[in-house]
Amino acid sequence: MKIDPGNGLKLLCAQCRLPLVSAPVTVRYLGQAFPVELPRCPQCGYTYVPEDLATGKMLQVEQALEDK
Ligand SMILES: [Zn+2]
Repeated sequence: MKIDPGNGLKLLCAQCRLPLVSAPVTVRYLGQAFPVELPRCPQCGYTYVPEDLATGKMLQVEQALEDK
């Protein structure tokens, strides 16, 4: 799955001023690991975590994975 940060807005790394690129990462929730794609800085490795993902909507991510 791919998480779109929204509306074609280019996210920039605050440190490098480089556009973030979608990269596969693993997020953990309730002791389980889920592979997702999140925008990540190609230079310093900073990963943008959408607020929804960080604040408890991981259950929806899990369901989205099961649909595939
Ligand atoms: Zn960076």
